[in-house]
Amino acid sequence: MINVITGSLLFFIVGSVFFSALFIVYSMVENEKKAAIRMILVTVFLLILGAALIFVGAPFVFQITLLVFILVALSVVLFRFGNKSITFPVPKKQFDERDVMFSRAALKPDIKNFKDYYAMRPQNLQVDNAFRKLPGLLNANTKYYNRYIFSAANATFSAVNLLQPLTEQKTQESNDKSINADEATLFLKKWVEKLGVHSVGFTHLQSHHLYSHIGRGKKYGDAVELNHKFAIAFTVEMSHESLSYAPQGPVVMESSQQYLNAGTIAVQIAEFIRNLGFEARAHIDANYRVICPLVAQDAGLGTIGRMGLLMTPKLGARVRVAVVTTNMELVTTSPKEIDSSVVRFCEICKKCAVNCPSNAISFNSGKTKLGWQLWKISHEKCYTYWCKIGTDCGRCITVCPYSHPNNFIHNTIRWMIKRNPVNRWLALKLDNYFYGTKPALIPLKKWTG
Ligand code: SF4
Ligand code: SF4
Repeated sequence: MINVITGSLLFFIVGSVFFSALFIVYSMVENEKKAAIRMILVTVFLLILGAALIFVGAPFVFQITLLVFILVALSVVLFRFGNKSITFPVPKKQFDERDVMFSRAALKPDIKNFKDYYAMRPQNLQVDNAFRKLPGLLNANTKYYNRYIFSAANATFSAVNLLQPLTEQKTQESNDKSINADEATLFLKKWVEKLGVHSVGFTHLQSHHLYSHIGRGKKYGDAVELNHKFAIAFTVEMSHESLSYAPQGPVVMESSQQYLNAGTIAVQIAEFIRNLGFEARAHIDANYRVICPLVAQDAGLGTIGRMGLLMTPKLGARVRVAVVTTNMELVTTSPKEIDSSVVRFCEICKKCAVNCPSNAISFNSGKTKLGWQLWKISHEKCYTYWCKIGTDCGRCITVCPYSHPNNFIHNTIRWMIKRNPVNRWLALKLDNYFYGTKPALIPLKKWTG
């Protein structure tokens, strides 16, 4: 006859075995063999414990101690504490797009912009000349060159370029300039979800969202002038499978594809708004007037983490972001405060910094004497590495515990991370146990080789 204590223990063991079995199935689907094997070991241990309780029995003191331990552990998992709010200071100075690595990489020594830029930033000349000597992104002489993959990525970037003229177009004449902001916002939200976005948010456009000067294209060097009042920020998902090969070729194939998907949706939104008689501009790859992660954070889509990217609640940084700015009235979704649990998890995690092949990511705390600051990576080190390997790397995104697929198992862990520091510590330990602190590179599939 099983008593109440033994019955309660068996209840928790059966629940844990059920969760473990789900984890194993999901891990197999996600091609995470190491995680599946390790969870099989945990499950076998739980089954042995359950069988021992039923068939052999255990001293009452042991059983009651184990039950108390389980109940205390469960209470800790459920309680919400240690999430004091965090604010990032609003940047006082606008960022100049001419300082972005892609803008600097496009400068050629025989053009005026080259001389003007390095007269303005002489400290960047040496590091920039160093990456200019390397083969470069999507170049044949790079470490991860693959004829088919690089050709596919180039083709996709060419398709993104075809969208560029559509980012800024004439607004349609309209006699009816009235708009119901609730209706328009709801329509946009539902429509773009149908188009395949992962998340969408709306915010007031603020001066620190804007670049000070244009760094790419024909208007290079012009001051950014954009008097739109609202911004629509959205994310599209990058494939977990493609990212798992990072820093090899599939990552650049995937990022180019998602730049294209995000760009297509952004120009659709901008054209939709212009058809209603309001100004709108799409901000897409290679043609930004705004800093997308800052806009997206203020629109409530996530929090900027250690690797300097927007961390969304369900996919982490495994997204691409695009923005549409407009003067059509919208209902904003800006959060009262940012999700401090992301910043606090990044404080202890550092997995992206450990795995970054170019040491571009800081191990430092986000908290300085001045308060919490946005982490900044060394774009020079990162981009120089890209020029050696030919892809846009993405190793930091791949190893990040937030980047796991959006499913029941990983969302349970994400939910735990939000609750308290003990869960965050535990989640990090579990991530390292199941997926490794430095996961090995995955060989490419045959069709990509
Ligand atoms: S890997 Fe860790 S430290 Fe880096 S962004 Fe992700 S959660 Fe933060
Ligand atoms: S993309 Fe690669 S090199 Fe750049 S920060 Fe991430 S891990 Fe480091």
